[in-house]
Amino acid sequence: MLEYDISYLKGVGPARGTLLGRELSIHTYGDLLEFFPFRYVDRSVITPIDQLSDESQFVVLKGVLRNMQTLKTSAHSERMTVTLYDGTGVIDLVWFQGIKWVKSKLHNNVEYLVMGHPSVYNGGWQMAHPDIEPYNYTENRHQYTPVYSTTEKLKSVGLNPKGISRLVETLLEMLGENIPETLPSYILHKFKLVSRLQSLHNIHFPTSPEALSQAIERQKFEELFFLQLDFQYRRTIRGLHSQGHVFQVVGEHFNRFYAEKIPFELTGAQKRVIKEIRTDMHSGRQMNRLLQGDVGSGKTLVALMSMLIALDNGCQACLMAPTEILATQHYQTFQKMLDGLGIVTELLTGSLKPSQKRDIKKRLAEGKVDILIGTHALIEDTVNFKELGLVVIDEQHRFGVQQRAKLWAKNTVPPHILVMTATPIPRTLAMTLYGDLECSIIDELPPGRQPVRTVHATDSKRLALFAFMQQQIAQGRQVYVVYPLINESESLDLKDLMDGYDSISRSFPQPQYQLSIVHGKMPAEAKAYEMDRFKRGETHIMISTTVIEVGVDVPNATVMVIENAERFGLSQLHQLRGRVGRGGGQSYCILMTKSNLSKNAAERIKTMCETTDGFRIAEADLRLRGPGDIQGLQQSGILNLKMADIVSDESLVVATRQCVADILASDPELTSEQNLLLRHYIDRQSKKPSWDKIS
Ligand code: ADP
Ligand code: MG
Repeated sequence: MLEYDISYLKGVGPARGTLLGRELSIHTYGDLLEFFPFRYVDRSVITPIDQLSDESQFVVLKGVLRNMQTLKTSAHSERMTVTLYDGTGVIDLVWFQGIKWVKSKLHNNVEYLVMGHPSVYNGGWQMAHPDIEPYNYTENRHQYTPVYSTTEKLKSVGLNPKGISRLVETLLEMLGENIPETLPSYILHKFKLVSRLQSLHNIHFPTSPEALSQAIERQKFEELFFLQLDFQYRRTIRGLHSQGHVFQVVGEHFNRFYAEKIPFELTGAQKRVIKEIRTDMHSGRQMNRLLQGDVGSGKTLVALMSMLIALDNGCQACLMAPTEILATQHYQTFQKMLDGLGIVTELLTGSLKPSQKRDIKKRLAEGKVDILIGTHALIEDTVNFKELGLVVIDEQHRFGVQQRAKLWAKNTVPPHILVMTATPIPRTLAMTLYGDLECSIIDELPPGRQPVRTVHATDSKRLALFAFMQQQIAQGRQVYVVYPLINESESLDLKDLMDGYDSISRSFPQPQYQLSIVHGKMPAEAKAYEMDRFKRGETHIMISTTVIEVGVDVPNATVMVIENAERFGLSQLHQLRGRVGRGGGQSYCILMTKSNLSKNAAERIKTMCETTDGFRIAEADLRLRGPGDIQGLQQSGILNLKMADIVSDESLVVATRQCVADILASDPELTSEQNLLLRHYIDRQSKKPSWDKIS
């Protein structure tokens, strides 16, 4: 019955049915059943009008209506006001839309309950588009009344919050006991959860505060549980059925590189992670591994050594980077590190000549190129490998899921995949978002690195800042100055950058000082040229937009000045700061902002000054922005969570993840009797489009 069209429900009909679908995505009985109240109002708590204050949020008022009037505000619009009087004071209730309907329902001198947000207008109290209904003592005794969100259009056909709640009531009465359970009973028992029937009844019409919180707990559990089941089931099945290259040996390439080419000792974390990767690639299953590590923790080296294992086993490897600058830099690093080992490395980017591209592709298909590095040019259909064994994707958050899927398909035996990210993902998020990836973490920086010292300054300190930059340059160091980039096409951003460049050139005159400038509007060769000059130490200051954000490595740079830092998100600030502090010298990050900051911006700046720990920053970021803004979440399903919150419900995330892991460990294909409901769920899911085989 839950899949019935909502129009069939008593009190809906075709017109309202269509509107419910369009405005609130309620198409079926089931959709309405899962359309949860966004708030519960305790109607026994009525605020007297003379107790309203600027801080009043959502309030419940009770009084009689007086003086209803409609004003024409223009040829096509009107406004309706009516005064509510409760014996202590008055407040004007105002409507701009749906006036006809409101007018037909309201009557002077009758007692009403009014709910909404009060505000001050022309020195008096006002409430726009309140929820209003006749006061009825018996009905209003319920302590918790659900409030459903609705829209003006729905209100104009009688579906205000109260109207929707009536529909839900009708539906629940009609369904009776016919609300099927979705979780196996042993799980309900183990986690002391109420039934789905009980939970849904109490979410809509709580019988007591305790019943409500149990209902919500059950709902949250269910959401997180099935999210985990989705991810983990897919991973399990992939493990059971999808074969990967078996890299049997660690051979000459790896060993010679290890013995001859690394000028330093690997950190403990690097050794551990390389071992994890080797084990994966040896297992016979296709590797899907996420490598997390703060900027500068040495992920690139780990990637390179993993690629050498692929080569040792007769395969090719490729590395995909998000920008041309970064791809080029990786290419240069690889060439330097692999010098003399007889390994053929090529760089494939969009700016090569067609003939050069053709040549590389030809040799690639013949197996004459061992390692291919590039941007998303790598995923074009014309790029074919002879035997691709390992794909490394750097800075994963820039790549869409679809793009990754294309790489997967490049070989008959799917290549092993290593996704590297320098944007640490909070634990709870990683657990949900990457439930289907194995995760390796480099949690140790190479020795001798001092944490970057971070300070916050405003424009009044600019002279002091310039003096400090001069002093660092005098010690042979280099400086970055970064401007925010809201939108590459906005000439305003470019103007900020150019103004900054002018002012810096005045204080840092040639020939004593050499400046580089890089921004998105420049041709790729010009960018690369400027980057190279800076890398070689020929210029002292690199003035740029955020094109340098990811991965650029100039160990001699010790100062990072971020202009308009309040306009950057936390993870971006952290990425930028990671450009310095890479060479062993004390490094500095200066966050320049305007003087009056929003609360949120002030919090971001404070976090940056307090910690350099990427994971702490990621947690703060998630807290400040909410998961909705974090890239990659759109397709993750996390945004479809109705009740659960991956930040505040961390312990439930952990519990459900473990619970699902245990279930799949003993019944990987969910064939046992007790897991029948889960089997049904998976079967239903598999009819929907899926992201299988992607990450
Ligand atoms: P990431 O990609 O994680 O940001 P990189 O791989 O670019 O970091 O490494 C940053 C710098 O640290 C590079 O110059 C690299 O050569 C150096 N490095 C990597 N591993 C070590 C190590 N174990 N000891 C010393 N320096 C290292
Ligand atoms: Mg890197």
